Amino acid sequence: TIWNLGSINADHVYAVPHIAAPGETLAASALNRGLGGKGANMSVAAARAGARVEHLGAVGTDGGWMVARLESYGVSCTHVQRREGPSGHAIIAVDAEGENAITLWPGANREIDLDVVKRALEQAKQGDILVAQNETNGQVEAAALARARGLTVAYAAAPFEAEAVRAVLGHLDFLVLNEIEARQLSEALGTPVERLEVPNVVVTLGARGCDWIETASGARHHVDAPKVEAVDTTGAGDTFTGYLIAGLAEGRPMRQALERASRAGAIKVGRRGAADAIPTAEEVDRAAL
Ligand code: ADP
Repeated sequence: TIWNLGSINADHVYAVPHIAAPGETLAASALNRGLGGKGANMSVAAARAGARVEHLGAVGTDGGWMVARLESYGVSCTHVQRREGPSGHAIIAVDAEGENAITLWPGANREIDLDVVKRALEQAKQGDILVAQNETNGQVEAAALARARGLTVAYAAAPFEAEAVRAVLGHLDFLVLNEIEARQLSEALGTPVERLEVPNVVVTLGARGCDWIETASGARHHVDAPKVEAVDTTGAGDTFTGYLIAGLAEGRPMRQALERASRAGAIKVGRRGAADAIPTAEEVDRAAL
């Protein structure tokens, strides 16, 4: 089982002629609403990859449809909490060139009751995986608890905050971050990511694929991404991470899990949307890439 302490957001995507200037009022020509949030994206990706996923998170009073959507993708939401007030959401303006401006409200994602998380994790078994990202509260507590219970702990350092990574680093088996985050982290810590005290570091490189670093030996393995035409890179990293941990949960060798994650990420960037655009295992395994 994969336990995901993760954000759940409603993405409101507005098509605008240009990004509004200060003081300007602008009418949008289209509105698309979908499920997003790094946590929800990862849960959907891992479930679509074939894993059993228990989502640990929270939605507000307006979040019923998001829980239903997660469940429709095969994600168990038994431990998803309901909070007073709004769910996490993102107001995303996208202009004709694809440039965007985003306002994010964390809402219920930062009001997760850790006692509920702790009780849920008491049902976790050795060999299970905990995954977390930086869009919720409680990342460090959950990682420490999961580690103590013998779970494998994976963390995606996004949205990037050096202090958040520093705080959780000692409890991790896998750290996943993109190239920019890797550079920011090594600058903040004064240590290259190759020398972090995390056994496995995975750096995603967009169209160039990813690198997996085993820090104990310093061995670096590269996996190429398939060549695709990118139309929307939203959620590429989340899709990649969800597929990667699903592969680990299934006991796939690391290289095989990375190759499948790369294919899944590449298919995602060819489609518009976040959670709703994540490919199924069949699509990932059958696509001629
Ligand atoms: P993030 O979304 O976190 O910035 P990346 O952009 O590095 O992460 O993307 C994560 C993974 O998705 C990559 O390692 C790759 O497998 C796949 N991917 C992303 N962009 C492309 C692209 N343009 N072409 C092919 N694969 C891509």
